Amino acid sequence: MFERYTEKARRVIFFARYEASQFGSPYIETEHLLLGLLRENPALTSKVLPAIGSIEGIRKQIEERTTPREKTSTSVDLPLSNESKRVLAYAAEEAEQLKQKHIGSEHLLLGLLREKNAFAAYLLNSRGLSLERVHEIVSKGLDTGGQAFDIVEIHGHGWDLTYVQSQLLELRKFAWRKRQWKPLDTLVEIQSDRTFFDLTLKDDSGFKFVANGWPREFCSLCHWELNTDGGPEHTAGYTNGREWLCAECYEKLLQPMDKAGE
Ligand SMILES: [Zn+2]
Repeated sequence: MFERYTEKARRVIFFARYEASQFGSPYIETEHLLLGLLRENPALTSKVLPAIGSIEGIRKQIEERTTPREKTSTSVDLPLSNESKRVLAYAAEEAEQLKQKHIGSEHLLLGLLREKNAFAAYLLNSRGLSLERVHEIVSKGLDTGGQAFDIVEIHGHGWDLTYVQSQLLELRKFAWRKRQWKPLDTLVEIQSDRTFFDLTLKDDSGFKFVANGWPREFCSLCHWELNTDGGPEHTAGYTNGREWLCAECYEKLLQPMDKAGE
């Protein structure tokens, strides 16, 4: 069954079986495959999963969810769960679609993400890693070598994916809606000439009201300017009611993660 697997992918399965036995699980579950993958291919995981944190963090989360059982002897040939079987089938499909003869650990990662309701997909999605994102990275990376792994392009500039991913995890805490940027009315502290945003102090004698006092805002992620005089690219954005994201950052980075997480 594993003839088409690369040596690395075989070792993922080997390690997954070991992990399952250590948890005393009667089956090799998707989370054991994920642990196997993290253990076997640190190069892939450090490139593709910058936001995932340490393998220890993932292991801890798996332990918290798992009923403690006696370890199984590693000589027992544990079967794959049905979910894990589907992960392997998806991995084979992914290799075919990418016209790769062999099934590698990157295809197993895609397989894990495609088995959406399984625990491994939850662990990956909850760390901000979507199927679409990994598709993009893997297909680019396979064509162009290592560099494409680490860079995402926003407004024609390359951004460090590691940086972006960690920001996205924060931004995902909020709901975002598309809005046209409009200048905000503000107050200005008369004594200092400094801006104040809370209009409830409008009648305070220390402040004066300034209509459209805040004419521009910056994307919380890429610092693209939102204003009313730079054309549609600068006017349309997404807001959580407090911060703003430019349309490109939201539609290219945040929205795909939400779709994958559904
Ligand atoms: Zn942006």
